[in-house]
Amino acid sequence: MSDYKILINGRLVLPVLGGTMEVINPADNSVAAVVPRCTAEDVELAVSAARGAAWQWKNTYIGERAELLFRLADIVREHSEELVALETAQYGGPVSKTRNFDIKFVPGELEFIAGLGRATTGLTISADPNARVMTVREPLGVVGLISPWNFPLVTAVSKLAPALIMGNTVVMKPASCAPLTVLKLGEYIIEAGIPAGVVNIVTGPGGEVGEAIVTHPGVDKINFTGDSSVGKRILSLAAPRVMPIAAELGGKNAMIVLDDANIDAAVEGATHAAFFNSGQNCGSPSRFYVQAGIYDEFVSRFIRAASKIVVGDPTDENTMMGPLAYMKCRETAEAYIEGAKRDGCRALLGGTPPSDPYLARGAFVLPTIFEVYDNKIELMQEEIFAPVVGVMKISTPEEAVELANESRYGLSASIWTSDYRLGMLLIERLKVGTAWINQHLAIVPETPWGGQKESGWTKENSVLVLDEYCYHKHIWIHMSETPHTFWEDRIRLD
Ligand code: NDP
Repeated sequence: MSDYKILINGRLVLPVLGGTMEVINPADNSVAAVVPRCTAEDVELAVSAARGAAWQWKNTYIGERAELLFRLADIVREHSEELVALETAQYGGPVSKTRNFDIKFVPGELEFIAGLGRATTGLTISADPNARVMTVREPLGVVGLISPWNFPLVTAVSKLAPALIMGNTVVMKPASCAPLTVLKLGEYIIEAGIPAGVVNIVTGPGGEVGEAIVTHPGVDKINFTGDSSVGKRILSLAAPRVMPIAAELGGKNAMIVLDDANIDAAVEGATHAAFFNSGQNCGSPSRFYVQAGIYDEFVSRFIRAASKIVVGDPTDENTMMGPLAYMKCRETAEAYIEGAKRDGCRALLGGTPPSDPYLARGAFVLPTIFEVYDNKIELMQEEIFAPVVGVMKISTPEEAVELANESRYGLSASIWTSDYRLGMLLIERLKVGTAWINQHLAIVPETPWGGQKESGWTKENSVLVLDEYCYHKHIWIHMSETPHTFWEDRIRLD
């Protein structure tokens, strides 16, 4: 029997066919919860509810929509400790992380977007003295929101808030291994008073339930965050209808440390950014290009700092790094580690399975740093999504930028230097969506997030996200008796 219900048309219900699936706690492989396993029948109901609510929601005063998002933010805050526990149980993020980042971010994002939406405007355009020309923002209709597990509630709400404030109704599908906080959100959505049908939540396998959303003719846009290969599949499914897709995909991010960098800052920044959330961040650096003059000191201090990370039970307040999201992720990471060894890389830290009996049972991978001599190997090109990184010695800043760009991904990169002018010049040549100087992995609601190349092209967060959830309709009101034409002589009407 399912411990949770899906949200369809304002009611918490079980799936039509009554299916269930287990959510496994990756720290100890226990069953964290049993949740609904939906099918296309549930997607049909969800889309139909969203379509039914679309006209009224679109025509609800934006201030009222904002008020509902503020109310939802308050409810999330009231339940924050419960959400922290669920987030930790379902994908292993340590409580220190789920409390200080995930569950803190969510209400802030809701409030930020709610306020921001009210400030949106259209254009007035001087196109013809006899006309008044403008653009108005219109909602897209029903938007399918498909989110990943690495920040389950954050990624879902980062889509939900702008979709709702811009007047769309939605069908949400969280990742199957970590759907609990999004399912809880369904309860809070009812409590906040968001009208029936505006938000619908279904759970189940991406290949079935996700694809049923993507291919449903009643869905007007998909906003997807996840793996690049899944993104390509979704794009191909959407192509026949020319349905717009927003895609936030994978990353293989570079951190460039130059000779003149503040080494304390670079070591602290590297250790945090590479191993926060066990390296399961699309923006984490996993390729380090370190200039020869600072290389030895940086690498030895990076190893020392990474070896001090407390890995263990994610419910322990002192734990800094928990397990990966599920056992398959550990197996994948271990395969990449063995591949790196075959490719001639030397493990400077980690590189073997944990020997501690508790860690050995769960999906734990210890912080692993390889010394690398070839940028083309798998370790430097594939998204491993684990605490496994490669460091490479480089001679010049230009060489570092060239190596950083030698990737099919283009999500983020950072440059560590005291010379901001040089940093800016290098950034101009980096093919990435976000570039930091002396920082890596700073993401707040106000800043845009999104990539280039196979990392996708969409923007999440910031004022830019609002454009993902509306279109700008051009309206021309002609006020003279003679219409605007491109013929020199007027047409004879008689
Ligand atoms: P996946 O791509 O495996 O899954 C993401 C979501 O898509 C899940 O809800 C999944 O459902 C669903 N899905 C899977 N297959 C299909 C399909 N054929 N049609 C429709 N939906 C489908 O990613 P992960 O959950 O493993 O998340 C990690 C990935 O997300 C990494 O590549 C990471 O880089 C990326 N990511 C990117 C971010 C960015 O901003 N660029 C931010 C965060 C993560 P199910 O769980 O049931 O398989």
